[in-house]
Amino acid sequence: MQSLLHNQLELPFPTLSPAAVIPAALVLDGQLISYVLHRSRGRRRIGLSIDERGLRVGAPLSASKSAIEVVLIAHTRWILDHLAQWKDKKKVQRSWVSGENLMVLGRSLELIITEGPQRILQCDHQLQVHTPHATPEHIATLVLGWLRQLALSDFAQRVDHYGQKMQLNPTDIHLSNARSRWGSCHASGRIQLNWRLIHLPTRLIDYVVVHELAHLREMNHSPAFWARVATQIPDFLARRREIRRDAHRFLID
Ligand SMILES: [Zn+2]
Repeated sequence: MQSLLHNQLELPFPTLSPAAVIPAALVLDGQLISYVLHRSRGRRRIGLSIDERGLRVGAPLSASKSAIEVVLIAHTRWILDHLAQWKDKKKVQRSWVSGENLMVLGRSLELIITEGPQRILQCDHQLQVHTPHATPEHIATLVLGWLRQLALSDFAQRVDHYGQKMQLNPTDIHLSNARSRWGSCHASGRIQLNWRLIHLPTRLIDYVVVHELAHLREMNHSPAFWARVATQIPDFLARRREIRRDAHRFLID
């Protein structure tokens, strides 16, 4: 029960649980296209979606493999076009050198690396890293450490701000390094926020903060829960959509 309850309180990245997905593949227009098939009881139609992870197919439990393939073949053009678009958007491998860009609070900062006594300064649109050891590994450690520190102080302020307005105070705020969750709220009153949120625009961080705070009172996603979120974030639906659709573009590793 504990783990079920725990899961309910978390705000997930839009990923499917590994147990729910079945890897599959099909040749479309001469190209082998792999996809993941997600069957579920509640689903009535076969649906396709494409994002940075590739093609996903949702299907009712009763749908036959051939029925699914008929749908895929009928949408060959759409699938190939969208997969190509996502390929273009894929993150470039970060080298941690001067001139690279980094998203911080939804703004692009240019990384500037110089040799000198160690310090990091944010100056307008630049993140200036001074270090006597300018290796990519060392720069990565420094910048990621700086981002985590910034995340902790920024999130603590937001939790404090909204906590006062909502009259809800967590016992503790922790940064998480989860690959699959933006935030979670525990029965003990502790809130965990993914440090990677620091890349996102502030309106999206605010949404996650308010979402987790609201769980301190409503341990579910009931209408009462969303009503509580809406008191602070009236356009929470738009922000939720935005975080599901766009957040991956801000992530750096
Ligand atoms: Zn939630």
